[in-house]
Amino acid sequence: MDNDIQRVLYSEAKIQETCKRLGSQLTNVYRSKRPLVVCVLKGAVPFTADLIKRMDVYMDLDFIDVSSYHGGTKSSGTVKLLKDLDTSVAGRDVLFVDDIVDTGKTLVYLQRLLRNRGAASMKVCTLMDKPEARPSDGVKADYVGFQVPNEFLVGYGLDYQGKYRNLPYVGILKPDIYQA
Ligand code: 5GP
Ligand code: MG
Ligand code: MG
Repeated sequence: MDNDIQRVLYSEAKIQETCKRLGSQLTNVYRSKRPLVVCVLKGAVPFTADLIKRMDVYMDLDFIDVSSYHGGTKSSGTVKLLKDLDTSVAGRDVLFVDDIVDTGKTLVYLQRLLRNRGAASMKVCTLMDKPEARPSDGVKADYVGFQVPNEFLVGYGLDYQGKYRNLPYVGILKPDIYQA
């Protein structure tokens, strides 16, 4: 897999350092609450696993799956619910955990869905934020690991056609991989 990567952007060590920083921030935020952490499948699985270990609070964990990419390298713009939560969100303090906020359409969709179900509060923690991909008045994540350039990234949860999610770092794919 390493041979398909042009450049490593965030090493395993750098990511762990960032999980530690975000985890202690979130520990302070949710100290007296019991948040419902919602991991956005499948990309946020590695990040969620590392982040929650750094959060020293009582919490619940659930998973939701939406799609917008359909295997390409550009967002399709339409978001579809693929797998719903098991947990009721009414009155809950929800923390969405995502791998990357790009156009923000996924977040807009998820926040509308859970607002309608009566969530008491909603915050977003994302490992990466690509602000160039959306208007300046677009959605904002509350807790961000890295501001990333407007390039197609893989690794640490992020895939290309299902591959590379298990890379321990985030990198830029060699262009010939997706031009082939
Ligand atoms: P958004 O709805 O904000 O446009 O994007 C949501 C999802 O698109 C992200 O959670 C992620 O799964 C996928 N995505 C956005 N940018 C990238 C990227 O650079 N690489 C990969 N592999 N997926 C991305
Ligand atoms: Mg995602
Ligand atoms: Mg994907």
